[in-house]
Amino acid sequence: MIKDFNKPRPEGFRTGDRVWPSDLGRKRQAGPHMSFQVGEQHSHLNQANINTRAVHCGQYDDPLTGAVGTPIFQSSTFILNDESYDAIDEGRAREHFIYSRYGNPSQWSVQEKLASLEKAQSAMVFSSGMAAITSSVMSLMESGAHLITSRDIYGGTYHFFHEDLEQYGMNVSFVDLTDIEAIEAAITDKTKVLFFEAITNPLLKIAPIKDIVKLAKKYKLRTIIDATFASPMNLNALELGVDVVVHSASKYLNGHSDLIAGVAAGSRKLMDPIWGQMLKFGGSLDPHACFLLERGLKTFGLRLKAHNENAQALAEFLEQRDEIVKVYYPGLPSHPQHEMAKDILDGFSGMVSFEIKGGDKASALLTKTLKLPRLATSLGGVESLISLPHNTSQAALMKSQLREIGINDGLVRLSVGVEDIEDIKNDFIQAFEQLRTQGVLK
Ligand SMILES: *Cc1c(COP(=O)(O)O)cnc(C)c1O
Repeated sequence: MIKDFNKPRPEGFRTGDRVWPSDLGRKRQAGPHMSFQVGEQHSHLNQANINTRAVHCGQYDDPLTGAVGTPIFQSSTFILNDESYDAIDEGRAREHFIYSRYGNPSQWSVQEKLASLEKAQSAMVFSSGMAAITSSVMSLMESGAHLITSRDIYGGTYHFFHEDLEQYGMNVSFVDLTDIEAIEAAITDKTKVLFFEAITNPLLKIAPIKDIVKLAKKYKLRTIIDATFASPMNLNALELGVDVVVHSASKYLNGHSDLIAGVAAGSRKLMDPIWGQMLKFGGSLDPHACFLLERGLKTFGLRLKAHNENAQALAEFLEQRDEIVKVYYPGLPSHPQHEMAKDILDGFSGMVSFEIKGGDKASALLTKTLKLPRLATSLGGVESLISLPHNTSQAALMKSQLREIGINDGLVRLSVGVEDIEDIKNDFIQAFEQLRTQGVLK
């Protein structure tokens, strides 16, 4: 098709410019949504509750065949027409199908569902949680800029901050995220971004998000919260004033331990440049993976309700047992931030950590004697997963460093699945008996 160069341009369009979405003069719309292409609106769902939104939002029913559910649009490229050229010229490339790294209907569908769960103007899927984190951070940082975070963040994120940001001429401070005064004291005139995990691994500390947002407003900083452990069921970070929320969708969002994916969500104003950063880093999500993620998300509300309930019940059960030294769970009154957790969170997630008597020897044997939880890293799947932080997520640390961040001998991390809670408890009871018989619980 021939491009019509004489067509009138929308307001804000500067003739002769190649505009990126980040410097558009026009008003930003939520999305991108499939309705941009087919005119169908999902706005009636905006007021719906979480299960309804998880099932219906973003779903694209094929108008040609009537097939229910978003098809897998397994194509790398799309037929060009005048609309595509205009979209490129007018900086609307994010709103038109051109090439699948830029956007694909399977991505848009699941993104709309995720945006709805996060109550975000716009959401983006990535090929991994790390792709979401690196693209989001790099789009908000610049050479010479400073970022504040905590030491007990996800290992991949820590290595990216510690090794790469410094190489790009940026600076990072690691502070105790439970100490808001320490966070404020770390702010300099170069600080741009506060990056924290809503619930940390493996000690399940809670980020004081309301205070962090206040600091960000006071000093004009951007906040990024990794809400992987909380999930949008338990935390609406954007409603609390956070700028960008990121997730490893490999965990609770997908929920079936069969996919690697990431998500970032926030205002269109911030998500458009993050999209531009993703185009360069290249971490876009494959259409088949989008289908799996969208399918997993349909039961998101049901799964998370079961994870929350099971974890609360198991945490209470473990806290009563003689074999256990200490249980870490924000839903327990014994958690040092329980009151704040109740204020920020709506449910305390499916992650429970605990220290067993008998130290690392007993914890190692426990993982072998339990029959239900799979011994594997990762979390948030329907099946319970168990791991030992000292030889998985924190394996790079020396014993003294482990103690420094509060990881004691015998610490076990459990991602409580959606199995029947009585079966999980009975499994622990039989395992404790075996450990007693073997005399390791000292
Ligand atoms: C797993 C995880 C990540 C990394 O996500 P991937 O999907 O593995 O890239 C980031 N942050 C947290 C808190 C995680 O648990």
